[in-house]
Amino acid sequence: MKLLIATRNLHKLEEIKAIFNMASIDLVSMDDFKNLPDVIEDGATFESNAIKKAVMLALTTKLWTLADDSGLQVDCLNGEPGIRSARYAGEPVDYTANNTKLLKNMKGISNRFAHFCCAVALSSPSGRSQVVMGKCDGRIIDDVKGSNGFGYDPLFVPNGYDQTFAEMDNSLKNRISHRAIALGLAVESWGDMLKDGAVDWTIQSRRSGRPPRNQ
Ligand code: IMP
Repeated sequence: MKLLIATRNLHKLEEIKAIFNMASIDLVSMDDFKNLPDVIEDGATFESNAIKKAVMLALTTKLWTLADDSGLQVDCLNGEPGIRSARYAGEPVDYTANNTKLLKNMKGISNRFAHFCCAVALSSPSGRSQVVMGKCDGRIIDDVKGSNGFGYDPLFVPNGYDQTFAEMDNSLKNRISHRAIALGLAVESWGDMLKDGAVDWTIQSRRSGRPPRNQ
């Protein structure tokens, strides 16, 4: 069966493909389609944005669709940049400007705790969805380090490590990141159902951990 991954971000697509990789599921991306609608991420939460994206694209393509929405939440900035992570320094999206703005807003502040969040939503072709969440705790350092990854990776050191995400090789980031945790839950929650070629939802709940929310 085909599963549409609803992102145009190549870094994310690679991360998702590396984790959500199952025999019998053919992953396709938005670039495999012409004229897909641009979904405006105007929800109040990561969950609502991921669900909106998954449902709109599933209804358009008539495919099972997996979408994520993610961002960085910094404790001393009351959770900012949060759902505005991509456009923190304004339009168009500029990772360097975002990092510069973040460092400026945290100048002189000793509480550097932060976490990345990721919501992963799955919608059936009929537009019914569920969502799971992943989180990765860490801290923001004083200057950029490393050149792998994207976004805030050069400023974020996950708990238990002394390298930024941008200094790690992809395989390590893909084991510990917020997206890896959310996608792990997604595979655990929905993998068997998708492998079996489900037409619509066949499960309502899962055995352990935080249950997916039905929409
Ligand atoms: P979105 O999920 O594409 O809306 O991502 C929002 C923004 O959050 C991205 O543009 C990045 O700035 C940031 N972000 C999300 N995940 C990551 C990550 O794994 N590393 C670094 N930045 C991230």
